[in-house]
Amino acid sequence: MNRFVEEVRRTPGGANVLNCLLCGSCTACCPVNEIDDGYNPRKIMRMILLDMEDDVLLSDEIWKCNQCHACVSHCPQDVRFADIVRALRDLAIERGYRDKDLLQKVKELDEELKRKRLEAVQAELEKKKPVSGKTAEGNL
Ligand code: SF4
Ligand code: SF4
Repeated sequence: MNRFVEEVRRTPGGANVLNCLLCGSCTACCPVNEIDDGYNPRKIMRMILLDMEDDVLLSDEIWKCNQCHACVSHCPQDVRFADIVRALRDLAIERGYRDKDLLQKVKELDEELKRKRLEAVQAELEKKKPVSGKTAEGNL
């Protein structure tokens, strides 16, 4: 087995890396790929399986994932690509490819964006009350 694949497999989140058949379902359902076709989970998987440690761990791409987990529910092989990304980020920090604080910064940014979206949606809902005459059935 290739050395880098084995290291990914042993890192928390990377256990199922060898299940991948490179089918591309993760890329097809990825919302980040929808707006940035340079971000391609299948391509990252292929690079891991080809043992391209430097290219993978130095890549900006592994930081673009927003951890929505759509790829996890669409993967026919239970690879759990979102978890593989977390393993790759941990390896990139551990091996000095990136500064330690990047991981925390990206987590904070993701949390802030989720909170901002919720606040913006709530503000819109306040402005746009339900159409008159429509009420909830209340039968849950
Ligand atoms: S991670 Fe899953 S969905 Fe993505 S290419 Fe591999 S097998 Fe297909
Ligand atoms: S978890 Fe990341 S790679 Fe998977 S679908 Fe969401 S953004 Fe794409």
